[in-house]
Amino acid sequence: MGFADLREFITALEKAGELCRVSKQVSPQYELAAVTQRTLAEQGPVLLFENVEGSDIPLLTNPFTSRRRVAFSLGCEERDLLQHWVRCLDNQIPPVIVPTGPCKDVHVAEPDLTRFPVPITWHEGDGGPFITFAQFITKDPDTGARNVGIYRLEVKDPRRIGASIAMTHHGAINHRKWELLGRDCDFALAIGTEPASYLATQATYGHGEDEYALAGALRGAPLELVRCETVDIEVPAHAEIVIEGRILANVREEEGPFGEWTGYMSGRAPRPVAEVSYMTHRADPIYNVTYEGYGIYGPTTIMQGVAREPEWFRAIRAQTCPMIKDLHLTIGGCAGFIAIASIGNAPAGLGKNVLMDMLRETGVKIAIVVDDDIDIRNMDMVQWAMAMRMQPAEDVFVIPRAANNRLDPSQPEFPSGLGSKIGIDATWSTKNLAPQTLAGVPADVTESVGKAWDTYGIPTSRG
Ligand code: MN
Repeated sequence: MGFADLREFITALEKAGELCRVSKQVSPQYELAAVTQRTLAEQGPVLLFENVEGSDIPLLTNPFTSRRRVAFSLGCEERDLLQHWVRCLDNQIPPVIVPTGPCKDVHVAEPDLTRFPVPITWHEGDGGPFITFAQFITKDPDTGARNVGIYRLEVKDPRRIGASIAMTHHGAINHRKWELLGRDCDFALAIGTEPASYLATQATYGHGEDEYALAGALRGAPLELVRCETVDIEVPAHAEIVIEGRILANVREEEGPFGEWTGYMSGRAPRPVAEVSYMTHRADPIYNVTYEGYGIYGPTTIMQGVAREPEWFRAIRAQTCPMIKDLHLTIGGCAGFIAIASIGNAPAGLGKNVLMDMLRETGVKIAIVVDDDIDIRNMDMVQWAMAMRMQPAEDVFVIPRAANNRLDPSQPEFPSGLGSKIGIDATWSTKNLAPQTLAGVPADVTESVGKAWDTYGIPTSRG
């Protein structure tokens, strides 16, 4: 079974040498961000800040900064991550509601978000302090179905936050549905939970499907939820901090700018506003945040990749190409802008169909397909396939003015979301081309050399 709560996860990280406690006092105004940024750039440990100016509680930054660390948090091997996640999608475990839990240790009837949890300003030019790593829970007014996502939240006043929820996200659909009924949309924020609930928020599956049921599968046991005090929402019982409130109907106020995971600042615009009504937290809470920004490939990139690769893989395997072997949203491509699939033994031309499948996603700008002898997590091999198995005149197609990710500033009408897409077929096997021979030494000699490797006295690792 997976971790029970955030502190159990922290203990495991520390035991594995993956966590560093920072006892030096740091300012929440840029300094905390700068220390986290440098640690991320150096692919260093998860940080637990024990002395943040203006705060009595410890603060954990960026627990999911590599696929290896995500695999660790789910108790599986990194190479098995995609297939493990596919199995969890097929075997979800709905959450259960329990009477109470540690998130109810302390009740705060009059929360002040400008004091607790400590407000953090991240990037030069940010519109204010932001809460960056809260599970934002809403319900559909028609069905009662829960949705959980992570959105950036600007702290505007002690009890007022700006909520930047993209229109295509399920949280925004729920807000809009309540708004059409003329009513505010209840929400709760769960901050600091065991890893699976955080990772499951990045699922892109249908509106109405419960991210917490995926979380249950990922951790191998149902998530325990408790009811909120002032809104009709349930939250993980073991959460460190719970903030309750309502997204106001028919209210928009300027929100942003904020430095996004794409590496660029994203602009200021009228966006929904939420009022906070109540807070509960554990007796000795831990605040959990993330840093994103230019020059690092932060948790959003890692988490989106980990969650979306299995869903798209599963859809393509079911609908287009049963012989798909792997699917990768590249790190440099900010987990979605660049997608690569490998396929084996597919009918002529099917590589292009797989490309069209990947490109239908609004986030994907560049799709590449290769044969399954290429390791698509090794960019040198992907480039080799493009260099040797792809003709730009026949194997590349461009789709102008499609719906793309709105955060891509190279779009001619930015930030309209209108952008072009490119598909690159770098397979050999689907093109009816003449067979070519790969250069190599005889297989039997490779094998006998391998068996006798130690006798050559060459200090290389084959691990
Ligand atoms: Mn959803």
